[in-house]
Amino acid sequence: MLELNKGKLLYTFEQCQQCGICSAVCPENAISLSLRKDGLHDIEIGTERCIACGKCVKSCPANKEYNYEGYFDGFEQKKYFLGYHADNRIRRESSSGGICKTLIIDSLKNSVVDGVYSLRCTDSFPFARGEFYTRENLPSFGDMPNSVYHSVMACTEIGRIQPCKRLMLVGTACQLRALNSVIKGKCDEIIRVCIFCKQQKTLDSTRFLAKVMGTSVPQNLRFRPRYRGDGWPGIVRVDESELPWNRAAQIPFGKRLWTVPGCNVCGDSFGIEAGADISLMDPWCIRPHNDLGETLVTVHTPEGGRLLQRCASLILKPQSFSEVEPALSLKDVWRKQVTEPVFRGKPYKERYVRAVRAELNQQRLLRMVVEKLPRLPIICYRILAKLPDLRNLILK
Ligand SMILES: Cc1cc2nc3c(=O)[nH]c(=O)nc-3n(C[C@H](O)[C@H](O)[C@H](O)COP(=O)(O)OP(=O)(O)OC[C@H]3O[C@@H](n4cnc5c(N)ncnc54)[C@H](O)[C@@H]3O)c2cc1C
Repeated sequence: MLELNKGKLLYTFEQCQQCGICSAVCPENAISLSLRKDGLHDIEIGTERCIACGKCVKSCPANKEYNYEGYFDGFEQKKYFLGYHADNRIRRESSSGGICKTLIIDSLKNSVVDGVYSLRCTDSFPFARGEFYTRENLPSFGDMPNSVYHSVMACTEIGRIQPCKRLMLVGTACQLRALNSVIKGKCDEIIRVCIFCKQQKTLDSTRFLAKVMGTSVPQNLRFRPRYRGDGWPGIVRVDESELPWNRAAQIPFGKRLWTVPGCNVCGDSFGIEAGADISLMDPWCIRPHNDLGETLVTVHTPEGGRLLQRCASLILKPQSFSEVEPALSLKDVWRKQVTEPVFRGKPYKERYVRAVRAELNQQRLLRMVVEKLPRLPIICYRILAKLPDLRNLILK
């Protein structure tokens, strides 16, 4: 998070959501990003260059006030679909059912939008960067990454966005919020596709997973990762080694280990506050593991519904709220929302402080155990993953 204090630009790493927008909007190139050992970026401010114009502060998503009142009110009335690409090969190789990549490609092909800002795969860490796609620059499925769970500075390439009539923005809520602040005037209409996100990870989560696989992430970060794909929930791969995703995710995700610190100040997993028209997520708890995959789509606006209907390559099955509720993680999102003020240092209820303290202590302890003992029999990780969550016990 960035703020101006008496004309001086201050950076708080603990609230940084790792989107990279600050460096992209700086007119004086005074902000540079430096890679840390855990794969996150520190922001370095060239004080001699900084003119304290405040552009970075205005675009920083961690600075934005959230209004969560009524956040969950409309969920029973929303439209839901389980969907996937009609081609089984694409469906199988995508993160869940391939809805996101299909929307990007089909919407450009069919001129539903004239531009899309999303990600493109790269060869080196963090293995993806921001990209502006058009019909002339149409991506293939392989050009775009599956879910990348370590942080990607997705907003650093906003300079590539060309003026267009209808622009699609694709990203997690924090990225959408950052993009919202800079695209005014560049297009007439915006459609937003939110990748549902409860937390982004540091590279240490991948290091841990590599150890569990019996390999390691090289120090120079020259390796080929793959998160998801090969069915649902798929696999995680580090070079030639792989692990089923449901097993890999148990500890790092279930216990929120190695999380980007700025994720603690975002409770907008669906991107509703960021203006999302649809959100895309996994069908956890409502679909068994299988060889193909499906994406759970939540439609927030009529525009989002129209976008889906105009995508001929998708098979979409309508679902009721009660059918999808177990997958929506509404309680987890609520917990993030109520504990957010504690992380921001704002007025909070004592119970929430206790919950946050308990959670942080539990995380520290678990990290210590699994980092020291990375090759325990898998049964031990299963037991650790099932440990009661202290935060949940306090907030019950
Ligand atoms: C960091 C992160 C956390 C997530 N957490 C959850 C969760 O807790 N619960 C849940 O149900 N689902 C979660 N998801 C969403 C889930 O992993 C799938 O992305 C979603 O189901 C869409 O699947 P798909 O097959 O339609 O996507 P695909 O068609 O495979 O397309 C994936 C799209 O995601 C984009 N993308 C990949 N990584 C990132 C990134 N880091 N930032 C921005 N865009 C990215 C790609 O550019 C691509 O457009 C998370 C995703 C991410 C990236």
